[in-house]
Amino acid sequence: MTRPPVQRYRGPVLPDGEARDLYVVDGHITYEPQAGADTAAEGWIVPGLVDAHCHLGLDDFGPTDDAATEQQAIDDRDGGALLIRDAGSAADTRWIHDRDDLPRLIRCGRHIAATKRYIRNYAHEVEPADLATYAAQEARNGDGWIKLVGDWISRDEGDLAPSFPAEAFRAAIDAAHAEGAKVTAHCFGHGVLPGLIEAGIDCIEHGTGLTEDLIDAMVAHGTRLVPTVMQLDKFPEHAAAGQEKFPAYARTMTDLYARMPATIMAAYEAGVPIYAGSDGGGISRHGNIAGEVEALVRIGMPAHDALGAASWRAREWLGVDGLTEGASADFVVYDRNPLEDLSVLRTPTAVVLRGVAVGS
Ligand SMILES: [Zn+2]
Repeated sequence: MTRPPVQRYRGPVLPDGEARDLYVVDGHITYEPQAGADTAAEGWIVPGLVDAHCHLGLDDFGPTDDAATEQQAIDDRDGGALLIRDAGSAADTRWIHDRDDLPRLIRCGRHIAATKRYIRNYAHEVEPADLATYAAQEARNGDGWIKLVGDWISRDEGDLAPSFPAEAFRAAIDAAHAEGAKVTAHCFGHGVLPGLIEAGIDCIEHGTGLTEDLIDAMVAHGTRLVPTVMQLDKFPEHAAAGQEKFPAYARTMTDLYARMPATIMAAYEAGVPIYAGSDGGGISRHGNIAGEVEALVRIGMPAHDALGAASWRAREWLGVDGLTEGASADFVVYDRNPLEDLSVLRTPTAVVLRGVAVGS
């Protein structure tokens, strides 16, 4: 493959907004002026967006085939998400690593849930005694992360309830850590959280059940939070669907949703690091990380932090370079300042992945 000639991108570079000329040479960034460079685009330059909670290879019914998965990845990419932390997939998506035209991918392996306590065809459904074994297995299968389903509706209790006893969760977290993997968990309610945070879980997904004491514990332990606000906005639908058969569950979901903005913002104010996740594929469409940045701003996060949660801060968290000298040229260009008008995130001027302008 022949490399394109040296390209110049010009404009304010976020996060600091300093106007610069950014050159792309052999897929990498340099700020050293390059003779004969063509100006490829001008505008606001943002480090490649990050979707920290997304599901490639899943749709409403379970695993998707490779063609459908490819289209999901293209949709995410064209929405500016050039790094994806896949928060659980029932399909083997390792092949995406071999595709230079698709986003960088950090896989969590397959979700691990309690038997008959999650969306059908999504998870390994296991008994408490087997949880640690599966955690170790998915730690070896994934890219440094595993995903547990922390809580889900219990039909016996008629309410949201932890998927496993706290000691089973602790053994699973220890098993994954022993394999060198980090652990995250789907958590809507309160009950599952104290045990997970005390056991040293690395990240909480959703986190609507957080309380002040647990937020303090997250700060003390360095636990991260990916709220997926767009997914939380579906709680009223879950409540309505459960109303007849599971009124207690409906009340719990309604209550969690009423407190949701205050809960997430309390974590933010306390200093819990928060990252943006679209939950694409988890009964949501792909390619909409912009929507999650807007949702974070809607609940009260300043625009600079909300965009950082979907870009430079998330890249740093996940160990991927931003727009430093010599880094892979992964960035998005917008024709106006996204910090002043987030709607521009939906219409990038250029999406550059590994130095190549992709999509559009
Ligand atoms: Zn999800």
